[in-house]
Amino acid sequence: MRAPEYFAVDMLFDLEEERVSLFIRDHSGEKVAIQTPPGLKHYWEEICDLCRRHGVMPVFFESNFGACDLADRRARLAGCSALIHYGHSDMGLRSEIPVLYVEARAKGIDVSGLERLLDIPEGARVGIFSTVQYIDYLQELSAIVRKLGGIPLIGRHGWRTRYDGQVLGCDLRSAISIASDCDFLVYLGTGRFHPLGVAAAVNREVLCLNPHVPSVKRIRPGEFLKRRMARIAESADAARWCVVTSIKLGQFRLGLAERICEYIRSHGRKAVLVVADVITPEMLEDFDPDAAVSVACPRIPIDDQDRFSFPVLTPPELRLVFEKEGAYVFDEVQPEDFKFSELN
Ligand code: SF4
Repeated sequence: MRAPEYFAVDMLFDLEEERVSLFIRDHSGEKVAIQTPPGLKHYWEEICDLCRRHGVMPVFFESNFGACDLADRRARLAGCSALIHYGHSDMGLRSEIPVLYVEARAKGIDVSGLERLLDIPEGARVGIFSTVQYIDYLQELSAIVRKLGGIPLIGRHGWRTRYDGQVLGCDLRSAISIASDCDFLVYLGTGRFHPLGVAAAVNREVLCLNPHVPSVKRIRPGEFLKRRMARIAESADAARWCVVTSIKLGQFRLGLAERICEYIRSHGRKAVLVVADVITPEMLEDFDPDAAVSVACPRIPIDDQDRFSFPVLTPPELRLVFEKEGAYVFDEVQPEDFKFSELN
């Protein structure tokens, strides 16, 4: 898995010093665990200074791909009495120690420059969505859409997101739920994965507004769907399958992974269930599979396919291998994918 694309080193983020101080005072013993995504690691000195001012020792934990990747258990084993998780919103996972989520929202952005980039016909309905980093700017973007004569729509958040209009790579509900009511879909933010996920899920173009540059790009699902359908076709004769899930609490879709093993076997193929932490090509290559199904983060087969020497499919893509027909469905994590009580 790669580092999240939405953090650029020169961006300004709200690290909520006051809330962090209060949390440390209320919850921390001698040591506090810290998780930062790659783009925020260069703030480590500021974070350490803040912890030490309150007389606690910070310990940094890897990795931090999302709120799905909570380090609470390892932090407890290392003697930390609380965890400060930067860069993501709470997705409702249970935790063994108290957790403070610092969403690290982008600050100081002037979105007014986006107005000249939008060409909206009078009365057009414009669905807008973003990641948590830019969620504060959705209302300003709505005002721009209104000023241009359009009607802004913001969808209700999904089960893993906290804010209306927010999307995650594994929960695109807020965008998907309004797509059929919209003439345009507009993503505010950086990076390709989230708008590409929405474009593929609803088979529509998404306009991507980068508030930093500012610039606009169009993402269409055609090329992406062609590549994924090629992977599905390559898997048609695969006899040996790896079905891999991740022990990361919010990615541990064990119930679904077990059902998928049975499904593959019911079609006369062999399947082995693998539980990993970070899913890497090297680890799966040792099993010498003809194909694999990733039942963890939906980004892995999409972002990392080129690193694997065999096709790696999502669960909905697997269905197309055996059932040969039906629309492409983008993988989203669902509550029923889990087996134990990962959820609060
Ligand atoms: S499962 Fe993947 S897309 Fe969802 S929060 Fe975790 S890293 Fe992000």
